[in-house]
Parts: sequence; C-alpha cells; structure tokens
Amino acid sequence: MESLSSVLLSWYADHGRDLPWRQTRDPYRVWVSEIILQQTRVAQGYDYYQRFVERFPTVEDLASASSDEVMQQWEGLGYYSRARNLHAAAKQVMELGGFPVDYEGIRSLKGVGDYTAAAIASFVYGLPTAVVDGNVYRVLSRYYGIDTPIDTTAGKKTFAVLAQEVLDQKQPALHNQAIMDFGAIQCTPKSPDCSACPLLDSCAAYNGKRVDLLPVKSKKTAVKERFFTYIIILEESSVFLHRRSSGDIWTGLYEPLLFESSAKLSLDDAFAKISAYGNQTKYLKLLASVEGLKHQLTHRTLYADAYVLECDGAGDDSLLKLLPDDYIKVPLSELSKYASPRLVNIIFERTII
Ligand code: SF4
Repeated sequence: MESLSSVLLSWYADHGRDLPWRQTRDPYRVWVSEIILQQTRVAQGYDYYQRFVERFPTVEDLASASSDEVMQQWEGLGYYSRARNLHAAAKQVMELGGFPVDYEGIRSLKGVGDYTAAAIASFVYGLPTAVVDGNVYRVLSRYYGIDTPIDTTAGKKTFAVLAQEVLDQKQPALHNQAIMDFGAIQCTPKSPDCSACPLLDSCAAYNGKRVDLLPVKSKKTAVKERFFTYIIILEESSVFLHRRSSGDIWTGLYEPLLFESSAKLSLDDAFAKISAYGNQTKYLKLLASVEGLKHQLTHRTLYADAYVLECDGAGDDSLLKLLPDDYIKVPLSELSKYASPRLVNIIFERTII
C-alpha cells in the first residue's frame, strides 16, 4: 500500500496552495508569515504579510523599528502579543548575529513554539521536523482513527510522535505543506470531501463512520449535547435498520442510518453523506422529514432531525447492498418486532407509520 506521505504529496502536486511565503527560503519572511498565520486565516493574513515585509523588508529593519511602528503595521490583526514577541525576537536575532539554523535555536526565539520552529526548520533549512497544527491533528486522528483528546498531554505527545513517524524524511518541507493543505482543503473540520479523497479506502474514521467525531477534544467530550441526523430509506414498503453496537447509548437497539455530527446537519449535508454510499443513492427523493427534535437523556441532550427518502428508479438492485453489512431490510408491518430507542419510535410515528 502507498504510504500516507506519498498520497499526500501527489495530492499536493495537484491541489496545493500557491502562497507568497512558499516562494522564499528567507527565514525572516517564513517566520513572519507563520506568526501572522497563527491566529489568522490565510485570506486575511495575506495582505498583512505583504504590507509587513514591505515596511520591514529584513530582520534588521524590524529590530530597529519602534514598537509603535510595529504595532501600527499589526493594527486590526488582533493577538497583539504576536507583534510584541516578533519585535523582541528580531532584536534577539540581531544579538545572536543571525537567524538560528537549527530547531532548538529557532525554538528559543520569543513567541516561537513547537509548530513555528518545525515549520521554519523544514521550510527554510529542509530539516526533518514534523509540524503539528490543527490541520495535522485532524488528518492524523481521522486517518488513523485515534480518539485520544488532542488537548491533553498524552494526545499532544501521541500526535507529535505519529507526525514525526509519517514525515517524509527526504522532503520534509513539501510533506509538511501537503498535510496542512490537505487538512485545510480536503479533510476540513465540518464538511470534509471524503467522496473525492485519495485516502478514502484506508481512512479509519471514514470506514468506521466517525469522521464527524474526530479529532476529540477533552473539553468537547464534557459537553453533553449530541446532534443526530437519521436517514430512513424506504424501499418497497420496507426500511433499513441496524443494531447499535456497544460502547454507547442504546446498545443493541435498532435504528435507521445515523450520522452524528458536532452541529446540526443541513439536508444538503445529509445528501452529500449518503452519496458516499454509491451512485444509486442519486435516485433517492425526499418523502418526509421531521426536524428540531430535542430528546433528553439522563446525562445528555440529543438534537435530532430525520429524513425519509424513497427510492425512485434505482434499478433492480436493492439499496441494502450499498449499506454496511449489519443493515437489514425490515417491512413496515414488522417494525414493531424490532426494539428501537424512544427517539427513533417518535420519528417513525411522525413520518412513516
Ligand atoms: S476520507 Fe474523509 S476523513 Fe478520511 S482523510 Fe479523507 S477527507 Fe479526511
């Protein structure tokens, strides 16, 4: 099987972003861009970066500027400690007699953390240091199906070690850019483009239907709200159900196809998710829906929507074939034989019975 890195690199060759700071190996410019991008989106950071390096073209220019001048350039960008640290670190660089050329030296500059040091070390000096930012956490946790919370000491260590293990040692700069762009463009937080993803077959989250649940944050797990979207597929007066597995609420009870997400899914989002099951799903038409249900359990609140879709000319093959193996086709007349959670029964009552 192709390595994760080689898949990411070939994806990057076609989809990577052409950003101005990627055209340079000047450590000062790469550093400025990385500090700006720490809490700023690329679209907004782009103009600030251009203006900043125009006003302070070299680290000497920045070091000799007054703090007022530096803050002026930063105005509107927020998180002003970044500008103060950048200014102080420029003076540090001048005292050192030049920009540090190894990871530890770069890491010792004011305001430079693990991520920024790894980015500069790899982008500028080609050192094999893996970056770990929000994009990398997301891609690795989903691809490998890791649910260790990313905001814990254990999680940070796990992902830092893994990121280093999968790094392409010969092309660390390209690899780092590829995995970050992949997270920013393909494997996005809310609507990852799984159906067109080159990692689809081997992605643990996709195959385990946990894409919306990863990565995990410990603070998030404390939130007791969950968002369910049920898809009830009607075919010849039957519906498709499966038994809930252990390790969660309602173990052993039957339910229709379920997408769980961190926020309410729109009908379009739900259709996009179903389309990942195959071409025939394009024949599904919306027959009924119930939205905005709130269901209280002892320790959590469930918010649920449900959509009833009917098959309209998909040919001879049952859609059951497209669903995972544990689904069964149940005639509506026999529905009562299958124990379902109260929430699911309410949905059935309001839509198909
Ligand atoms: S299949 Fe989806 S979740 Fe998995 S890596 Fe691709 S985009 Fe991300």
